[in-house]
Amino acid sequence: MEKIIAENGMAKCTAVLKKCGLKMTAPRLEIMQYLNKHHDHPTAAKIYSELKKKNPSLSRTTVYNTLETLAKHSVLQVIFITEKEMRYDCNIKMHHHFVCKSCGTIMDIDVRCKFLDEMLNGEHVVQEVHGYFKGICAQCNSKKGKKSS
Ligand SMILES: [Zn+2]
Ligand SMILES: [Zn+2]
Repeated sequence: MEKIIAENGMAKCTAVLKKCGLKMTAPRLEIMQYLNKHHDHPTAAKIYSELKKKNPSLSRTTVYNTLETLAKHSVLQVIFITEKEMRYDCNIKMHHHFVCKSCGTIMDIDVRCKFLDEMLNGEHVVQEVHGYFKGICAQCNSKKGKKSS
């Protein structure tokens, strides 16, 4: 069962690379598959440390350079949601994010906004949309509520 899922992920990643005119390389596939499985918008450091567990010969430079290449070719989106770090997202559709100031979780928010739609279908070519909501996530908020009562 797990093997089938892995293969499907692989086929999807290969197709995306082909569409973007990029060669298929092992690090590219590994990073894309990781991001397809983990929608928590990981940092480059997190991706590197997770992939390194399975592939000890993987270098930090390879991971950082590969992320840069994939982002440049719009295979991935770079999210500048906090001042100090870049986070990576394999969902390249325009979408907004919610970040929890308490646990640092970043979630996708599907915003239906007529102004956004007007911009996207307008005369300008929109290449990036940065829409961030910041606050305390439901999980942290319920924990806080329990503590104080
Ligand atoms: Zn939280
Ligand atoms: Zn996202």
